[in-house]
Amino acid sequence: MTKKQRHLIIGGSGQDGALLADYLVKKGFDVHTTCRNKTSFSLERLIYLQILEEITVHKCDIRNLSKLKDVLESVLPNYVYFLAGYTKTADSFSDILEIADSNLKPVCFMLDFLRKYMPDTKCLFAGSSEIFDTENIENKIDLKSRFSPKNPYGASKLFLFNVVKQYREYYNLPVMTALLFNHESELRSHFFVTKKITKNLVTFTKNNEYSFQLGNIDAKRDWSSAKDFVRCFYKALESDNKVDDILLASGKLMSVREFIKLSAKILNLELDFVGEGLNERIFCKKTGKLIISISPRYYRELETNGLAGDPTETMQRTGWSPNYTFEMLLEEMIKYELEKN
Ligand code: GDP
Repeated sequence: MTKKQRHLIIGGSGQDGALLADYLVKKGFDVHTTCRNKTSFSLERLIYLQILEEITVHKCDIRNLSKLKDVLESVLPNYVYFLAGYTKTADSFSDILEIADSNLKPVCFMLDFLRKYMPDTKCLFAGSSEIFDTENIENKIDLKSRFSPKNPYGASKLFLFNVVKQYREYYNLPVMTALLFNHESELRSHFFVTKKITKNLVTFTKNNEYSFQLGNIDAKRDWSSAKDFVRCFYKALESDNKVDDILLASGKLMSVREFIKLSAKILNLELDFVGEGLNERIFCKKTGKLIISISPRYYRELETNGLAGDPTETMQRTGWSPNYTFEMLLEEMIKYELEKN
């Protein structure tokens, strides 16, 4: 009997880790994940997906390198997905030491560990579109676009991208970075605007005294389904003979304003947009009740220009293509909130 492939997800409790674990379990693999702690709060996504019994969860904070070493030695994975780390772009100026501890050292440790002890293990590191130069760019971003991160989080992801490439080229290791544009699902954390909007609009439909605040609703993003992205993580590692970096995006830009309108449409809510800038208010047409007001609190000090990514090269190389349309993603996010509330 052939042995089951062993997959280790470092950072298994976040949106991408949980969705990837679900995907790999359904493929019949032996799936291990690390989680910072094993409280039911930390494991809530794995519990929701009903896969906790089917995977092995290792308690491990990636900042504890000796613990990370223990996990790698006990699992001996064929595939590793390094998804853990600091991800709050907007706060990253105030958290620079935390970024060094979570996004730099563990990555260096991981690469060097693979080089010394597991040179055949294929490993994907989660990168970010925050590494790219967002100014004076007319075309979509691709793997050859210019880099110029605008915040410490982006800088840490550029370091990751470069050092992974160096280890791949210098030591011939099968390691890659996945450059990820925004990717959402019903399991997104509430810090992100898509989750905030879907969750709060559903709350309004159940309690029309409820209202909430947003920041710049004319900001634009390239949004995709996280479920599509995690499918590509596996496909890229498995299908590439010559492992190379990938870029995942939808190629389309949408504003937060459009996102609100589409979400409201699915909920049969007609909206009235009144005023401009910080004075703009969004009301329910039918009841006249306030739903959304704008607050400077949620504006970004440095708002990156909305840029779309071009996933063509990755699609051609890996044979991956997305299954989700934007409407399907939104419908799933709203359905989840309706059933949960
Ligand atoms: P990220 O900034 O790309 O990591 O993703 P977010 O989902 O946090 O933000 C996407 C866009 O939504 C950004 O341009 C924000 O400025 C904008 N935005 C507007 N209002 C809000 C808000 O209340 N919360 C968040 N997180 N973003 C908001």
